[in-house]
Amino acid sequence: MAKMNKCSFCGRREDQVNMLIYGAEGFICDECVEQASSIIRESQVSKGGDVVLKDLPKPKEIKEYLDKYVIGQDAAKIALSVAVYNHYKRLNYKVAEDDVELEKSNIIMVGSTGTGKTLLARTIAKMLLVPFAIVDATVLTEAGYVGEDVESLLVRLLQAADGDVKLAEKGIVFIDEIDKIARKSDNPSITRDVSGEGVQQGLLKLLEGSVVNVPPQGGRKHPEQKFIQVDTRNILFICGGAFDGIEKRIAQRLNTHVVGFDASRNVAKLDKANMMQYIAPMDLKSFGLIPEIIGRLPILTHLEPLDRNALRSILTEPKNSIVKQYVKMFEMDGVKLSFDDEVLDYVVDKAVEFGLGARGLRSLIETIMMDAMFEVPSTGVKTYTVNLDYARTRVENANVSVLKESTEDR
Ligand code: ADP
Repeated sequence: MAKMNKCSFCGRREDQVNMLIYGAEGFICDECVEQASSIIRESQVSKGGDVVLKDLPKPKEIKEYLDKYVIGQDAAKIALSVAVYNHYKRLNYKVAEDDVELEKSNIIMVGSTGTGKTLLARTIAKMLLVPFAIVDATVLTEAGYVGEDVESLLVRLLQAADGDVKLAEKGIVFIDEIDKIARKSDNPSITRDVSGEGVQQGLLKLLEGSVVNVPPQGGRKHPEQKFIQVDTRNILFICGGAFDGIEKRIAQRLNTHVVGFDASRNVAKLDKANMMQYIAPMDLKSFGLIPEIIGRLPILTHLEPLDRNALRSILTEPKNSIVKQYVKMFEMDGVKLSFDDEVLDYVVDKAVEFGLGARGLRSLIETIMMDAMFEVPSTGVKTYTVNLDYARTRVENANVSVLKESTEDR
């Protein structure tokens, strides 16, 4: 019989495990990888799920990390860094020794679509020492209706914590598209608003801190299923939403409030291109979030619209920028890829012209590069430069509506 490779850690043979990974000096099986990873996690988190304070990144370090991946958005970065740092501090705090109770400060980030809310959340997740889950508010409906119950948010968190309830109870949940559960009108409706207020009420319980019954596999509740009890008191919630059209409400509020003496000067000073920076809790209320939810999201921060300069930087500067990704891909074929500066400026112009924002940058570059990606690996060339003529022809041949559609999917 041919000699079989064995896991160098547990000694099991290739045919006894799901997968054997080859290293320079030996082998490791899938189960040993899993085990090793949980040992690493446990070493970051001491007994009982307490995070070791001395190793915690300071707010400035958290922001510096975010700066590597996300362009601009300083206000949101600072709010997030402080919130995450304070979250760690609270977890380390022994209430018994002192009677000052540290309340958590959940965050809400408001900013147009494609300005980096999810990117910020994903990036921060990479450096966190606690379990983190990103969930979408649009799937939620009021209990008893088709869709997912609010408790399902915690299923993801439990998964991120590998089922460790104590650890999950100290985790962070990012709820995307929170604006989609806004009440449809400012006045509480008489008929039931399945997708709006009922869900907000359900969410409120989680935000306030309560013991929630979470179905083990998520999804629907069955009478015979055993629930897992999760205490949400120490879970940090970060919400994000585009709140389309909220700028108008902000402008209205500012215009009606600034009346009388000196009014004209105050209004003139407003930066009309970026009304989001003046957002206040009352704007969220007029958009349709119930006051109780707003009260539980005390930190309100905004994302700036991305201007040309920001879009240009997004193309090349982030650690894993789209241009760097293409350069890497060509490098794997032994080809040195470069883009003329004019091409990058052109891509930015087109993204702005089509109203595609940052999401459009990727689809434009993809459109430009498709033929080259097809041809170059077979040609044996060592360098490849994309010039303006080439880029322009590719984009002009592509259907704009196709470009837009491919952007909407993301
Ligand atoms: P949002 O959640 O605000 O709708 P995303 O975070 O999903 O937007 O952004 C969409 C894509 O656009 C990201 O994957 C990223 O490539 C790019 N992007 C958006 N904003 C930024 C930014 N500030 N810095 C770097 N890339 C960005």
